[in-house]
Amino acid sequence: TCGICVEKCPFDAIEIINLPQELQDDPAHRYGENAFSLYGLPVPQEGQVTGILGPNGIGKTTAVRILAGELEPNLGNYGDPPGWEAVLDAYRGTELQDYIADVRDGDVTVARKPQYVDQIPNQFDGNTRQLLERTDERGELDYLVDRLSIRPVMDQAIDDLSGGELQRVALAAALAREADFYFLDEITPYLDIGQRVTAARLVRELAEEEGKSMLVVEHDLAILDLLCDTLHVAYGEPGAYGVITDPKSVRNGINEYLKGYLENENMRIRPDRIEFEEHAPRTESRGDTLVSYPDLRKSYGEGEFALDVEGGEIRENEVLGIVGPNGIGKSTFAKLLTGDLEPDAVGPDAGVTAGDATEGGAIDDLDLDLDISYKPQYVTIDQPMRVDVFLSSITDQFGSSYWNTEIAKPLQLERIMEQNLDDLSGGERQRVAIAACLSDTADLYLLDEPSAHLDVEQRVQATRAIRRYAEQQDATVLVIDHDIYTIDLLADRLMVFDGEPAAHGRAGRPQSMRGGMNDFLSNLEITFRRDERTQRPRINKPDSQLDREQKREGEYYYAP
Ligand code: ADP
Ligand code: ADP
Repeated sequence: TCGICVEKCPFDAIEIINLPQELQDDPAHRYGENAFSLYGLPVPQEGQVTGILGPNGIGKTTAVRILAGELEPNLGNYGDPPGWEAVLDAYRGTELQDYIADVRDGDVTVARKPQYVDQIPNQFDGNTRQLLERTDERGELDYLVDRLSIRPVMDQAIDDLSGGELQRVALAAALAREADFYFLDEITPYLDIGQRVTAARLVRELAEEEGKSMLVVEHDLAILDLLCDTLHVAYGEPGAYGVITDPKSVRNGINEYLKGYLENENMRIRPDRIEFEEHAPRTESRGDTLVSYPDLRKSYGEGEFALDVEGGEIRENEVLGIVGPNGIGKSTFAKLLTGDLEPDAVGPDAGVTAGDATEGGAIDDLDLDLDISYKPQYVTIDQPMRVDVFLSSITDQFGSSYWNTEIAKPLQLERIMEQNLDDLSGGERQRVAIAACLSDTADLYLLDEPSAHLDVEQRVQATRAIRRYAEQQDATVLVIDHDIYTIDLLADRLMVFDGEPAAHGRAGRPQSMRGGMNDFLSNLEITFRRDERTQRPRINKPDSQLDREQKREGEYYYAP
């Protein structure tokens, strides 16, 4: 036995050889015999943003329910819960003592932002204004609406909002409330980098200026780094037990996490480390050209959104990253490649670049003749069909040892094979969709926001699966994503979109990672420095000495 359970381990978790100190003590809460146990609790601090970094299913929601006073922790004694006084005794002398006393007295109010914003339309009928006005307890709604650029959709039905709009509305709704403690379960899905940074700064402001306690779960590590004052790492066996560590400095917490080893806890949480320096910036692949496309122009009608694409080429066996703000034409470009949309003009007629080398021609000439396997941004596979049935209908490789090792295992599909697609969580559905996309036979694999809804561990695994697949199958992969670490770890080259969202966009030709990151981040006026110990890129404070220096030198990301 591993020491958690008295009898034989019901969770197959006996590989825990190195039993952490925390597990030798009583848990904070255990749901029942052989049920999930939570060890350790995060510590909300007035005026601070506290982060939790770890996988889903590790007890974060359980911890928040305890801190909100909704769940009375039983200290492992599920048969005879000892009550709040005993809990207070257990935490006497710790940082949580005062906080728990307030919870016991019913003095803590909590505002939260749910993880899956896609579900809000099922729960609310009405428009944005109606939803937000019900939450305006601090009289700050106007300010939040402007900072998060929600004004243009105030009279739009919640049903019609895009994922990125829903995310910002949900965040405004939580922050507009008057509470002692705010719990934000992911702030970045569907937001572009500019919006992510704005959201992070707004959360920080509420802590610093209003003295609020903020507790945030976030899987975009660059944003987590910018957002938090302290960080708890969560680890364990999802569904079986979870440990929330004592607070660490944000820098140490993320570095130890990436290393796969928690120093104070003397605990290995992953066999290998995640390295940035290795591919930063990755040297360009010199593969043959898979496809050249000419200048292209596409608009959705008079006065509506228009996209200009500079002609370029996609190389065989490369991972091409695609970055740019929301609403700038990335999906439109993808649909031009797949042939779902026809361009208005091609070649010199498109008037994108003067005297471009590619020959002009009629619209019909844009016959790229490519077989493309496409994973859209909003994954809509939700039939009542089993995952294994669905995937085996896509590839006859299904179940082969190669497919199991390269696709099923890194995407953690084994456990969900027998479930129905329409019963899956957002993260499970995303993993099945990535597997389906990569399993198809195609010339080009196009993944739109594969990181959405994946926890940080799953992002790492999915990133590796996609890279290995590209390398081993000589596949060419295009990845649109807003998680800058995901793009950094995945891509060989970068294609940058800029312009004015919802009005006009311009797609630059694919270029090196360094040039691409510089173009992209200079549009956003964000610079990154390198962490001395791990080479991990970290966002600079605006107008700090490094920020000014790097802007002067034009080195926004891969600064020495
Ligand atoms: P997270 O927020 O990290 O995804 P949760 O705290 O929601 O994790 O859940 C952790 C584990 O506890 C899950 O395996 C979940 O199934 C289990 N769990 C949650 N609530 C209950 C409950 N009321 N009874 C038994 N198990 C529960
Ligand atoms: P991105 O993928 O970069 O977020 P899209 O290519 O999806 O951007 O959209 C670019 C712009 O074109 C957005 O303003 C969007 O509302 C608009 N748009 C997309 N599809 C259509 C359509 N079928 N008709 C009119 N406008 C559209």
